[in-house]
Amino acid sequence: MESVKYKRIMLKISGEALAGENGYGIDFDVANRIAQEIKEIVDIGLEVGAVVGGGNIWRGRNGEGMDRTTADYMGMLATCINALALQDSLENIGVITRVQTAIEMKQIAEPFIRRRAMRHLEKGRVVIFGGGTGNPYFSTDTTAALRAAEIEADVILLAKKVDGVYNKDPHKYADAVKYDKLSYIEVLDKNLQVMDSTATSLCMDNNIPIIVFGLDIPGNIKKAVSGEKIGTLISK
Ligand code: UDP
Repeated sequence: MESVKYKRIMLKISGEALAGENGYGIDFDVANRIAQEIKEIVDIGLEVGAVVGGGNIWRGRNGEGMDRTTADYMGMLATCINALALQDSLENIGVITRVQTAIEMKQIAEPFIRRRAMRHLEKGRVVIFGGGTGNPYFSTDTTAALRAAEIEADVILLAKKVDGVYNKDPHKYADAVKYDKLSYIEVLDKNLQVMDSTATSLCMDNNIPIIVFGLDIPGNIKKAVSGEKIGTLISK
């Protein structure tokens, strides 16, 4: 195996990242490129779990005036659509995958069963977790933290549209400064909008490091698992 720092990783891909420049829906050029990057790390022996967001299709908070729970279930379904898209892109290039969903949809995917997920990972299959946690009022960042703890992942790779965590929005402020390293407590104290506080707390309590990095730069996933300094590392 090539030199890698981690053995089992949890990759969180936001819905926004899958939308590419369109800002909505799925850009298959992007999905195919992400799949290719995942293939590279699977080929060198890494075990990969992936959680996909749904914000490119629907977010619970878009449902103004709606019952929040219903709006959130719509969001969870959106993540399942993305999970199937990523599965398709991966399988097109010969990566064996399983989609497991937090809400049962047996004709489409396996239900989430931790032991089964672990077995798939051991066999080198990429496991894509759809449907979030299966509960309203949560996010897919929290899902990534939860599933990472459950599958005993060594690290969460949080793929974003920006190349790390900044003190303010780098798209709006030219003088925004990027952090190389942060502690969980700093993320919470400074109220940095990198992931929600539930997800950050879960990672802190379970001591799961998070690498926040940009997906637009090809090769970043491999760099991150090789321990190369990219983006921002959040840890103890
Ligand atoms: N969602 C939920 N419970 C979960 C995960 C997701 O209710 O455990 C819903 C929620 O409405 C959220 C939507 O699914 O807005 C899409 O997920 P998220 O916003 O985390 O996607 P991302 O921002 O990563 O694209």
